[in-house]
Amino acid sequence: MKIVIIGAGLGGLECGYLLSKQGFEVCILEQGKQIGGCLQSFERKGHRFDTGFHYVGGMGEGEVLYRLFEDFNLLNLPWKELDRECFDEVYIDGEKFSYMNGYENFAEELSRQFPNQREALHRYATILKNAQEGLQDFSKMADNPTSRELMTTSAYNFLQQNFSDERLRNVLSATSLKMDLLADSLPFYLFAQINGTFIQSAWRLVGGGQVIADTLAAGIRSHGGEVRTRARVTGMQVDNERVSRVIINGEEEMACDLVISDIHPNILFPLLPEGAVRKRYIQRIKNLHNSFGVFTVHLLLKENSVKYRNRNLFIHHQPELWRTVEQPVDGCTRSIGVHFSVPENGGEYTRNIDLFMPMYWQEVAAWSDSQPLRRPGDYEAFKQRRAEDAITQVLPYLPELKGNIEQIFTSTPLTYHDYTGTYEGSAYGICTDCNNLMVTILPTKTPLPNLFLTGQSINFHGVLGVTVTAKITCEQVIATLPTL
Ligand SMILES: Cc1cc2nc3c(=O)[nH]c(=O)nc-3n(C[C@H](O)[C@H](O)[C@H](O)COP(=O)(O)OP(=O)(O)OC[C@H]3O[C@@H](n4cnc5c(N)ncnc54)[C@H](O)[C@@H]3O)c2cc1C
Repeated sequence: MKIVIIGAGLGGLECGYLLSKQGFEVCILEQGKQIGGCLQSFERKGHRFDTGFHYVGGMGEGEVLYRLFEDFNLLNLPWKELDRECFDEVYIDGEKFSYMNGYENFAEELSRQFPNQREALHRYATILKNAQEGLQDFSKMADNPTSRELMTTSAYNFLQQNFSDERLRNVLSATSLKMDLLADSLPFYLFAQINGTFIQSAWRLVGGGQVIADTLAAGIRSHGGEVRTRARVTGMQVDNERVSRVIINGEEEMACDLVISDIHPNILFPLLPEGAVRKRYIQRIKNLHNSFGVFTVHLLLKENSVKYRNRNLFIHHQPELWRTVEQPVDGCTRSIGVHFSVPENGGEYTRNIDLFMPMYWQEVAAWSDSQPLRRPGDYEAFKQRRAEDAITQVLPYLPELKGNIEQIFTSTPLTYHDYTGTYEGSAYGICTDCNNLMVTILPTKTPLPNLFLTGQSINFHGVLGVTVTAKITCEQVIATLPTL
């Protein structure tokens, strides 16, 4: 039984790890020269920068991600826990708020600034805690009334109904650059799941996300599996309603018994021969909303100039953090996440900080025909303007940056589009809509019985969401085998 996996992002690597461990012949095909997708790191001037990944939640012993990572041999990596008394420092229009670890602590800490919301905060903390315990297969959501209720409630409405203080509603949403805060559609379950894990405990990884990708790939190889880079899947052959071969780089054919796709469905389906699956199915997925993209300003700092902070900063210069899909894109930066790299030499100074903010495909689409490293001057000027704007906005909170930036690198949704094959540079893929769960939660099965989906567009995104989905995909693959 030969299983081909398209894409060596976290989802593809996790599926490859689990299935190769079970003795299946696995080959992962990655278009890039490097594995990891959004987890990959890149090097500039001998320093490592992260493409996407900055931190995870729930890696304390017995916690939600810890339990999942046990199966992938990812517990013994150099994880570094962030400050428990404040892992995320939030600024809204200059006012500071602290996110503390532990559900009760979190509620108590914010109660100091919002004493009349204490009860509501404790209720909220209990709901987040319970959501962790109920983490399960999204496709079985209908069977569980509590989860279903949380899925069909919008996060925005939940906050409106449970907190009378608008400032607090914004504080509770303020570290959520990790998801698209769409007022009309973001399910509360997803909001609770993602925020809740980080409140359990928050962790960086020395060496960045690439360490996870490399560890998984080493595991796959030790199980006899193969991970190939510079191997872009450019087509698929379908015989008797089964994918029988994948085409690599337009020239090589590889026979397969089963295929798992870790790439965005909108990139996958055009690879199938016309008519292999119904146009209506493909169009329905194409019509779904995808999350914003990200603009990252990677700052290389002068040696021994900026002290490492063992926490993230989320800086907002706007009164309302939620948006509607229809909201126009006006090219302003109002919300920025600040992430410090852990010094790999164990010292007290960091060499790089990432400033991370939403950016929309419409803002860069005009340059989408240009090639990496050969972009036109107006694109470079656009990036420089936006980077300077971001630095100006964080300087009041990080005055030590002044005079200490050695070099600036940037990435836009166009960078992700070109290097990680992300559909329209969307950071988190297809957005789940609480009003339309049946359509926006994609099953891992497709109309072709030997073609399966995994990755961030199926169920939910982030290291946690992708890991849950990889397990579901593998379970369904194994359950389906006798019928193939
Ligand atoms: C800027 C940013 C910051 C983030 N920060 C965090 C964070 O701090 N914590 C967290 O938990 N999550 C974070 N995330 C989300 C998390 O990184 C992603 O949800 C997750 O890594 C996605 O994994 P994936 O396997 O679904 O897809 P991807 O990482 O997109 O991998 C898909 C892979 O498929 C390859 N590919 C595409 N087309 C082809 C083809 N035709 N043939 C072969 N290969 C192909 C791509 O090159 C890529 O390697 C962040 C995401 C972004 C974008």
